[in-house]
Amino acid sequence: MTLDLTGLTPELLEKYDRPGPRYTSYPTAPHFHTEFDKEAYGARLQKAATRADEPLSMYVHLPFCEARCTFCGCNVVISPRRGPEEPYLAALEAELDLLKTALAPRRRLKQLHWGGGTPTYLSPAQCEQLFHAITSRFPLADDAEVALEIDPCVTTMEHLATLRRLGFNRLSMGLQDLDPDVQRAVQRVQSLELTREHVEEARRLGFDSVNIDLIYGLPLQTEDGFRDTVRTVIRELAPDRVACFSYAHVPWIKPHQRRLDGATMATGWEKFRLFVGAAQEFVDAGYRSVGFDHFARPDDELARALDEDRVHRNFMGYTVMPASDQVGVGVSSIGDVAGAYAANEKRLAAYQRKVAAGSLPVERGILRSSEDELRRAIIHRIICTLKLDNAWVEQEFGIDPRVHFDNAFEALEPMAADGLVEIDDSGLQVTPPGRFFLRNLCMPFDAYLKQPTDGPVYSRTV
Ligand code: SF4
Repeated sequence: MTLDLTGLTPELLEKYDRPGPRYTSYPTAPHFHTEFDKEAYGARLQKAATRADEPLSMYVHLPFCEARCTFCGCNVVISPRRGPEEPYLAALEAELDLLKTALAPRRRLKQLHWGGGTPTYLSPAQCEQLFHAITSRFPLADDAEVALEIDPCVTTMEHLATLRRLGFNRLSMGLQDLDPDVQRAVQRVQSLELTREHVEEARRLGFDSVNIDLIYGLPLQTEDGFRDTVRTVIRELAPDRVACFSYAHVPWIKPHQRRLDGATMATGWEKFRLFVGAAQEFVDAGYRSVGFDHFARPDDELARALDEDRVHRNFMGYTVMPASDQVGVGVSSIGDVAGAYAANEKRLAAYQRKVAAGSLPVERGILRSSEDELRRAIIHRIICTLKLDNAWVEQEFGIDPRVHFDNAFEALEPMAADGLVEIDDSGLQVTPPGRFFLRNLCMPFDAYLKQPTDGPVYSRTV
């Protein structure tokens, strides 16, 4: 299997490299609003509670890190000294109580994911305490996917053993790039040896799947150097899944990114070549390409889900999401419950204050209209399956997409002329070069892009 790069030129790249959403949600987060408050969220939870037999997915945000990596785009709280996690754990328990009350009767967790920050900033004993706090309120289904993100620099072998014993079966590790110069430039030094020790120990303990995150577009990266990183990752770590993210340079949202030297960061065609080289290496090594930035071994659940039409896209990227509702727990977490997105308070103090007062800590969100649901389904269909079947839309939503979305199809015509998509009466099919421009191909179906937002909000599409 090899990657078809026919038609990819600097001119094509220049034409389509512009700000655009990543579509981890639709409507996208800049369009969430504060009118969606705790009462609105409570009503959605009540509705979700009636679906007692359906499994539930839960994301728990653990924001603490010992030091800040300068490329970081996550919501983090930097604290070299331990201490702030204690009141935070208490706040999480209080929020879990609120959710349990709202969602009763109990719904089983089919998927539990701890993200951050650095979840293993918690000690093994604190991990155990939090795990029991969750599962005593929301029992795990027997076949649940239980995953967390770890930073090998702060994760001990005791952590791994504890997590595995508790029932965690998937791990995700950030690595970004193995080149020591790049690592120093982004203030995240993490050796191959340390990463390999953690991967090998995770496998020995019986974790089903290990994911590695890479990032392209960082300072000092070169095409050859990044290809070397990818080859080494494949040869030495053999991850089951890889997310190869485009570095999102958004210093107006993340001011610490100003510390990166922009003059040494690849942009445009040069940046694009970083990704194309990496993608080529993964595909040549037998990985399946999932969406626009994930790769999975053919025997991994995500690759199997591709063939069975079960790949979803949410705030964690491309996933196999088995549950109809996902609750977010913790500061800045975002849930997707009974037709609404609910985003928790982003500031730690405000989050802790609200839950201490017995209030759901939601800060903003959006209740999706039927038009939102339709557009969301179409965007996620294109971004996950790389096609849109008009008959499927008619059957699911009772509308003729060629009529309902005549403007969107018209906007896609120049992209079809550029060879990114093929359109006929049955629907649309993304072409091999179009895979690199999936975000652009979704944008014509986004009704919110014309609405004003508070300043620039999106990173570039390539
Ligand atoms: S460890 Fe991860 S979450 Fe923490 S600062 Fe670095 S990139 Fe951000």
